[in-house]
Amino acid sequence: MQSISVSDIIVKKAAESRIDQVDFDKLVFGTVFTDHMFECDYINGHWQQPTIRPYGPLTISPAAKVFHYGQAVFEGMKAYKDDQGKVFLFRPDENFNRINKSSERLAIPEFPREYFFGALEELLRMDNDWIKPGLGNSLYIRPFVIASEIGVSASAANQYKFMIILSPAQAYYSGDVSVVIAEKYSRAADGGVGYAKAAGNYGAQFYPTRLAQEQGFQQVIWTDANSHQFLEEAGTMNVFFRVGDKLLTAPTNDRILDGVTRKSLITLAKDAGIDVEVRRVEVSEIVEAAQQGTLKEIFGAGTAAVVSPVKAFSYRGTKYDLPAQESSYAIRFKKALNDIQYNCAPDPYNWRYPIN
Ligand SMILES: *Cc1c(COP(=O)(O)O)cnc(C)c1O
Repeated sequence: MQSISVSDIIVKKAAESRIDQVDFDKLVFGTVFTDHMFECDYINGHWQQPTIRPYGPLTISPAAKVFHYGQAVFEGMKAYKDDQGKVFLFRPDENFNRINKSSERLAIPEFPREYFFGALEELLRMDNDWIKPGLGNSLYIRPFVIASEIGVSASAANQYKFMIILSPAQAYYSGDVSVVIAEKYSRAADGGVGYAKAAGNYGAQFYPTRLAQEQGFQQVIWTDANSHQFLEEAGTMNVFFRVGDKLLTAPTNDRILDGVTRKSLITLAKDAGIDVEVRRVEVSEIVEAAQQGTLKEIFGAGTAAVVSPVKAFSYRGTKYDLPAQESSYAIRFKKALNDIQYNCAPDPYNWRYPIN
C-alpha cells in the first residue's frame, strides 16, 4: 500500500460556496450537501490519485456494474462541533474498518487507511463552516464505494469509485415508533451479507417496511431468518430491550451489523453498573415480559438518531404498548453519548477524534 499524506490529495476548490443558500434551521435529513466531495478510482489493480473537487453530478456509464449487480457498500458517520468551534469525529476507526469488511464481502478491493483519513480531515477543514455547533447539529458523512467498470457480464468489477459526500444535519427526532416483529420477511440470512453495510440490504427492506407502514407501524424488528424466534435488528438500527433493569441485545454475527452506537452504549451501560446481557433474545421472552409488565423499554441504536425509542410492538396480530418511562435508559445513554461526541464531557475511552 502506498503511503500518502493529505498533501498528496489533489484539491480543486469550489469557485463559490453555496452555504448562503441553505437554511440550517429547516434541513431535511440527507438532502443538502456541502461544497466539496472526495473521489478516488480503482483502476488496473490500484487506487489512483485521490481528489477533492466541488460537489456535483457524476458522469457514469449506464453499463457500470453497480447498476446491474449491486456491488455497493457505504458508511454513515458524523462530525460534531463544540462551542469553541473544535470539530470531532466519533470512533472513525470503526467506520474505516467496517467499510473494508463490507467491501471484502462484496468482492470490492480494500481502501487505504491514509486515503480515508486524509480525505476526511481535508474535507472537514474545507467545509468546516457547514458544521454548526449546538447539541443535535452535525455533519453527516457518507463514504461509499461503487463498481464503476463498464460491462454487464456477471462478475466482480475491476474498477471502482470510492467517494465521500457530506450533508449538514439537525437533531434527528424519529419520535417514538411502533414496530412489527417480522414473521415472514428477513433482513439477513446465515452466510449472507447482513453484517456488511451493503446497499442491497436496504433495498430489500423497503418493501416489508412499507407493508408494516400500511398497517400503521413505522418499522420492522427483524428476526432470524431460520426460525423467526430471535430478535436481531430494528429497521436499520441495532436493537436493545430493557427487562426490569437489565439491558438485552443480540450478539453480532453474520446477520447483524456491528454498530458503533451499539457497542458504545454497551460500554456506557456496563460502566454505569447496569446489567447488560449480550445474548440471543427470544421473541417469546419479550412478549412474556410485556404481558407481565417487566418490559420497560425497546430502542433502536444507530448513528443518525443515536437512539430511537419504541412505544409499541406488534406480534402475531397483538399489539403491546410499552409504558412511559420516568428514567429511560434510551434518553440517559443518548445524553451520555452526545456529551462525549460534542466534547461536553470527559472522554475516558478515547472515542473522540479531533480534526485540527
Ligand atoms: C448502520 C447500521 C446500524 C448502526 O450502526 P452505527 O455504526 O451505530 O451507525 C445498525 N444496523 C444496520 C443494519 C446498519 O446498517
